[in-house]
Amino acid sequence: MRLLRRQGRRADTDGWTISPQGWRVRVGTCIELTQANRLVGIVVPYLGRRGTSSLIHVEVDNPSFQTFAVDAFGRLYWSRAAIEKWTIQEIGGVLVHEIWHVLRNHIKRGHALLGPNPSKTQAERFNVAADLEINDDHRDWAGGQQVQVVRNVWLPGLKLPDGALVPSKYGLPDGQRMEFYYYALKQEGEGGSGDPGDPLAGDVQAGKWELGDPVETGTPGWTWEQLEQLQQQVANEVQAHGKTAGNLPGSWQSWADLTLTPSQVPWRQTLAKLVRVAMSQRMGMIHQSYQKLSKKTQTYLRPGWQGSQVQVAAVVDTSGSMSDDDIRTVLSEVMGLVKGSGTPVALIGCAVEAASVGYVSNVEALLRMRAPSGGTDMRVGIDLALRGRRKADVIVVLTDGDTPWPISPIGPPMIVVLTEDSALNQVPAWAHPVVLK
Ligand SMILES: [Zn+2]
Repeated sequence: MRLLRRQGRRADTDGWTISPQGWRVRVGTCIELTQANRLVGIVVPYLGRRGTSSLIHVEVDNPSFQTFAVDAFGRLYWSRAAIEKWTIQEIGGVLVHEIWHVLRNHIKRGHALLGPNPSKTQAERFNVAADLEINDDHRDWAGGQQVQVVRNVWLPGLKLPDGALVPSKYGLPDGQRMEFYYYALKQEGEGGSGDPGDPLAGDVQAGKWELGDPVETGTPGWTWEQLEQLQQQVANEVQAHGKTAGNLPGSWQSWADLTLTPSQVPWRQTLAKLVRVAMSQRMGMIHQSYQKLSKKTQTYLRPGWQGSQVQVAAVVDTSGSMSDDDIRTVLSEVMGLVKGSGTPVALIGCAVEAASVGYVSNVEALLRMRAPSGGTDMRVGIDLALRGRRKADVIVVLTDGDTPWPISPIGPPMIVVLTEDSALNQVPAWAHPVVLK
């Protein structure tokens, strides 16, 4: 906050500097940004207090820069052109959009996903994917709904500018993580050429306007540790708001829960809980659908109904990157959990080519399916589990994560056991991940 006020005073002075890549920029804000930030503070105070108000404002003087953008140091770059084309409500909506790039660690996750030197296509696709993770539920927080400030006083709410990207534009489901969207866009060859209608194109890609490392360049900026602290503080405020007022977009609530929960639960415990819950839910559904059916058709319990069991399928990545030990350990765990439920676990090995996907009778036979190397398409094995001779009610997938995933929910609960946590964010949000540690 202190930092911001100081910049506010400097806004009208001629403090232009040249960014390391040659663009004219200056630390400073403007009246519209201040007003929009005030609006954010009224509509979503739990994001405004520690979130948008902590962004360091930097003006960019270049006609080709017509948007807002954030960098890895909590700076918000803005231009006159963007301020002039957007209303205060829209500027507020974009501020909230931008702070979510910071809160969701998009730049760091982008580096983890793409490495230090991404191609232009990769960078553009990443930008789209990151925007989809933020915008999928924007109608809940930036749909322009009126907000009651005090009795009889209403304000127009936040709004995202027209053309802001949403998953449905690409035929993708809402509620997924950036990494999931990235791979889904890649599969479809989408999101790589920017979008002329996208008002926020390039807002998390490194650009020529960036001031660079605060320490090296002597410019204001937050350190990584400070930004992490900020994320914790906002998560606390979001959680507190969720408890008292309750009207939070669902994805914000789950972000706060995830940010504040240490994820050091032993994998065996997590897996056991997930398998038990999935099996009992599935059993409940089998019961329920039978009850519905019997009411409708006026019949009584069919003989043999009581033998209905939950079929658990384990779809195992047999590509070279998986170790025999991991496969044996996880499968014996799964088999132990399912033991006594009536049906054995159906084992499906899934290697590089569709031809090498199939049921096997035991773990050793599965290990003999090992393929030398390369990525695997686990969707083929999952599909077999869903449509094969032993239709699965619960699916446990064991993989290193180097695979495309089904885009929409598959029906039965899907538990994903990952040997590497780096692939965690690519797992669809409707699946239940466990990481082997
Ligand atoms: Zn964005």
